[in-house]
Amino acid sequence: MDIAAKLVFGVLVFVLGTIFGSFLNVVIFRVPKHESVNKRSHCMSCGYQLRWYDLVPLFSWIFLGGKCRVCKNKISKQYPIIEGLNGLFYLGVYLKFYIIDQVPFITEVEYDLDGKMTLHYDWYSVIIAASICALLTALLGLTVIDWRTFEIPFGFNVFITVIAVIHGAAVILHNIRIAGNGVADTLKHFLPLYFIGFFAVSLILYIIYAISKGRAIGGGDIKLMAAAGLFLGWKNIILAFVIGCIVGSIIHLIRMKVSKAEHVLAMGPYLSLGIALASLYGNIIVNWYLSMFSAS
Ligand SMILES: [Zn+2]
Repeated sequence: MDIAAKLVFGVLVFVLGTIFGSFLNVVIFRVPKHESVNKRSHCMSCGYQLRWYDLVPLFSWIFLGGKCRVCKNKISKQYPIIEGLNGLFYLGVYLKFYIIDQVPFITEVEYDLDGKMTLHYDWYSVIIAASICALLTALLGLTVIDWRTFEIPFGFNVFITVIAVIHGAAVILHNIRIAGNGVADTLKHFLPLYFIGFFAVSLILYIIYAISKGRAIGGGDIKLMAAAGLFLGWKNIILAFVIGCIVGSIIHLIRMKVSKAEHVLAMGPYLSLGIALASLYGNIIVNWYLSMFSAS
């Protein structure tokens, strides 16, 4: 693909991210209140039912100056922030696959005698990239909810488990069909990686949970590390946990110093940061770490 086509794809990926971010906003506002996410969106002050042109990600909020069209009350900054962040996340995944991994999403361009062009896509890589995008959206949503309510809604962990299975299947099929690795070798490598990943961190957390009678760690965090472990495999989920603990303790110490009132720690946001980094850069970091122990 030439540069222009890559740029157009990049913009499309960003726009797609803002659209899913817009839906994520609805989830973040309604799920903790047990409201339906299917209902039409309305202004939280006057109840004005939003039209399609009020729902264009980023643009509607900017054009309306962050105010309701009817009652002029302020609309939460959460809307454009989540939409913009989710767009940047998708763009980041796209760039990472293209620039760092140099994954050709299009494996072959074929011309027949009439000059008609046929593109051959590597759909497995597309699904792998899309499942990481879906993972990042879920992590962004549960981060905001856990930060506000100290709860990770169960549905988020169910969602991550489902995309973990899809992601794992795509990785295995990609290895067999595109990379040309043997079926038995591929299964022998990946099935234990993901299966152990499900338990690697979650089991340790569960033991801490049982000993502390639920005071040291929340049940939602344990389920998150199980679901994300199935997605990442055991090496990367351990890395995610280490990153989450380090960043979490540093930020928590700073917050305790600044405002002495804050003692409750929501782990979800820090674990999510670790999972997000590990999903994109885990293999690079783990390989670099392991290489320090191998004689060269
Ligand atoms: Zn209003």
